[in-house]
Amino acid sequence: MTVQPPTHSNKLSTVDAVVIGAGFAGLYMVHRLRVMGLSLRAFERGSDVGGTWYWNRYPGASSDSESWVYSYSFSDELLQGWEWSRRFPGQAEILRYLGYVADRLDLRPAFDFGTTVTGASYDPEQALWTVETDTGERVRTAYLITAVGCLSSTQVPDIPGIDRFEGDCFHTGAWPHEEVDFSGKRVGVIGTGSSGIQSIPIIAESAAHLTVFQRTSQFSVPAGNRDISAQEQLDLKRDIKQIREKCKWTSIGHPYEFRNVGAFDVSPQERLAQYEADWQKGGFEWMFGSYNDLMVNETANATAAEFARAKIRDIVRDPEVARKLTPEGYPIATKRLPLDTNYFATYNRDNVELVDLRESPIEEIVAQGVRTSAQTHELDILIFATGFDAMTGPLTKLGIRGRGGVALGDKWSAGPQTYLGLCTVDFPNMFMITGPGSPSVLGNMPTAIEQHVDWICDCITHLREQGASAIEPQQDAETSWGEHVNELANGTLFPQTNSWYLGANIPGKPRVFMPYIGGFGTYRKLCDEIAADQYRGFRIG
Ligand code: NAP
Repeated sequence: MTVQPPTHSNKLSTVDAVVIGAGFAGLYMVHRLRVMGLSLRAFERGSDVGGTWYWNRYPGASSDSESWVYSYSFSDELLQGWEWSRRFPGQAEILRYLGYVADRLDLRPAFDFGTTVTGASYDPEQALWTVETDTGERVRTAYLITAVGCLSSTQVPDIPGIDRFEGDCFHTGAWPHEEVDFSGKRVGVIGTGSSGIQSIPIIAESAAHLTVFQRTSQFSVPAGNRDISAQEQLDLKRDIKQIREKCKWTSIGHPYEFRNVGAFDVSPQERLAQYEADWQKGGFEWMFGSYNDLMVNETANATAAEFARAKIRDIVRDPEVARKLTPEGYPIATKRLPLDTNYFATYNRDNVELVDLRESPIEEIVAQGVRTSAQTHELDILIFATGFDAMTGPLTKLGIRGRGGVALGDKWSAGPQTYLGLCTVDFPNMFMITGPGSPSVLGNMPTAIEQHVDWICDCITHLREQGASAIEPQQDAETSWGEHVNELANGTLFPQTNSWYLGANIPGKPRVFMPYIGGFGTYRKLCDEIAADQYRGFRIG
């Protein structure tokens, strides 16, 4: 693999490109830009590569994408040189994988670690961005590329007394590097999204007592995680290219596709048998590989929801606890569906207690624990599994100001406005990898990331070949794209439910469905057509 040596030095004040972030997106972006021969600087607030997997070290953290698709596909050498041990890889294995990629491509020297970007402003006269960091650096660059992830801005709820708690307090998305010892401890977890659902069973195994504070009961599907057998490893090595090519064109960037039938095109017996067979296999295929109308037809969705509810009632022995855990009132999968290992069975343990915050809300946090309207729950460790300011949060907090000094956060005060989720008017030459308005979080992230990085690199190559100094969406293209993203979302069941997809988990955040739901393959084709059509909808100057 040919890689140029890093082209930056600390004295360099003007470069071709600045990349923010050293997760899946930033690593691949830096690699591509270096191969293209651009000078660059890259900043990462963590002390090493990893992004999401650097920060989310909570017990049980694991990918919900099968390992063989949760990796880069751009290099045969990388693909063949790595073997995953599990169907769904855990955080430590993914972090090792990203370290392996960084080593093989010699990417670490390109990054300034432990460095947070605090602002960026655009000078239209010179068509240059000036990027500022918390280490006092100012770097001028033609291209500003954000690789900051969609779920990296942690959200801690504004609960009265939060600073008064005298025990240890953690957020799943900013977990300490040292092991947290739960043995003999009374632990509380607030939140039952994916992070809570993954961590609760593991914490319960060692804590003296675990109290789960649940506001909304969640549907969850068994992961069916397992080791990858030696034969499967051989099969994967042989077939991986075709599998990865298929991911590029499916609706959610995974190799599985909806069967081309609706839930009512088959008999109730056949449907139940299918749900059961897929449930036993584990993974997202249960929902997203079954019937093609589950996310658009409420009655069809209800068949899957009722199947999943029955599973909870089967697993959880105490009927009252089962009732509290059983989700009602919203369609299944309109909140991001978690995959779990023994989540519901954990509530059969004697040391686990479920507090339903709909019945007894949290009133305050006190020195000894959490006080609800019913009682005080004494705790030694309190864990916030309360999620993220998704998609826009990681971008608006960078302090980016575009033409005329307009802040990105102000421009997006009524919701994100982008063209293709890649660029936004008044922020020329700024590219957002998996930005709002692109499919991103609705499927396999590495598929989405590679497509965006490749598209951005082709675009930069085009600009350089044309001798053009800047690219920016046209206002009407951006407006139409926003309308299209909304229209597609409104044709589904997603807007019915309060979820982070809509910003509903952040008080005051505008309620706008942020990802593009038209499908990964469709989106890729459209992006390619737009590029081939002289970057239709963009102004190049
Ligand atoms: P989340 O899905 O937003 O869940 C946050 C949880 O905290 C919800 O149960 C929420 O309740 C609760 N909560 C928030 N504020 C609260 C408050 N003031 N009082 C009580 N409860 C409160 O966050 P997450 O679990 O960190 O997951 C976020 C996303 O990250 C996932 O959906 C997924 O896309 C990604 N993720 C992926 C993986 C994986 O691939 N394996 C693992 C972890 C995370 P409400 O539902 O009532 O708001």
